[in-house]
Amino acid sequence: MKKYNFNAGPSILPDAALEAAAKAIIDFDGTGLSLLSISHRTKEFEGVLEEAKSLFKELLNIPDGYSIYFVGGGASTQFFHIPANFLKTKAGYVNTGVWSKKAIKEAKFYGEVEVVASSEDRNFTYIPKGFDIPSDLDYLYICSNNTIYGTEYKTDLDSPVPLIADMSSDILSRPVDVSKYAMIYGGAQKNLAPAGVTFVIIRDDMLERVARPLPTMVNVKTHVENNSMFNTPPVFPIYVLRETLKWMKSIGGMEEMYRRNQEKAALLYAEIDRNSLFRGTVEKEDRSLMNICFVMSDGNEALAPEFLEFAKAKGMVGIKGHRLVGGFRASCYNACPKESVEALVACMQEFEKMHK
Ligand SMILES: *Cc1c(COP(=O)(O)O)cnc(C)c1O
Repeated sequence: MKKYNFNAGPSILPDAALEAAAKAIIDFDGTGLSLLSISHRTKEFEGVLEEAKSLFKELLNIPDGYSIYFVGGGASTQFFHIPANFLKTKAGYVNTGVWSKKAIKEAKFYGEVEVVASSEDRNFTYIPKGFDIPSDLDYLYICSNNTIYGTEYKTDLDSPVPLIADMSSDILSRPVDVSKYAMIYGGAQKNLAPAGVTFVIIRDDMLERVARPLPTMVNVKTHVENNSMFNTPPVFPIYVLRETLKWMKSIGGMEEMYRRNQEKAALLYAEIDRNSLFRGTVEKEDRSLMNICFVMSDGNEALAPEFLEFAKAKGMVGIKGHRLVGGFRASCYNACPKESVEALVACMQEFEKMHK
């Protein structure tokens, strides 16, 4: 049976990237050797790394004056690397759910944390807006897309202090004005690559702001100055990441990616709003393009397990909501085809008919 992959992460990757990766495991770019069995310090692999960086720069429209590096440890390692490097006295955090809370917890090991805004009062169903950003903060930290709750910033904040964003789950899904950020980072396993690599985009002046002496692997300078090669970088995920970016460029780059993501999200949100059995869980203006959360409508809550079974039988994979939100979550990342969303919509419509 055909499967429609809505997994939240690790998640769907383009077929073209998977096919290239499968080949490279056997014979890497005609070297006669597996990608998994060569030194990262070969000119062939250095070519992969350089192309991954240049495609990232091109597709996200990253201005000059920024460095890109790839490192292991996941976004969760950055939760403490960021304050270790940049928290001198006080940092500001916007609390939009689990991932920002985890970042706040780690920052407290290094200094004072001011939560400048929070959406906890309504179980993180919206993005706080119009809050003041004190100018004495070392930096302001946000999570641009809240994977678990399905909320997403729709504008790039104007911040008087360096702005740092976790974009794990919406990187390269929509245009971003990179010049407004001092640092953008994320685990690549939601939208770009298999698990194992973290991308970091950092404005070069941040390297002068490192707050304290640090172990080598924690210091951001190490990774910029050694071009992701201080130690062995995650070779295989970086290769797949490059292939994903090549695919994105081949379909028309950011403009086309964004158009497709808006189209898919519009289709599914329209059905959630139309279908009497379901309702969305977040403020409409803050709805994520990537993680689309919904529940059974009031009075129909008991149908949830039946819908999950029904959808599963139709080939839907990964639509059970996170335990903190319940209901359903369809993660419609870049590589998720419109066909999958259409199949889910058809499934919701059929389920509604069965219960009329
Ligand atoms: C998945 C996720 C993380 C955690 O990433 P790891 O690489 O597993 O540490 C952090 N932030 C966001 C927004 C996520 O979606």
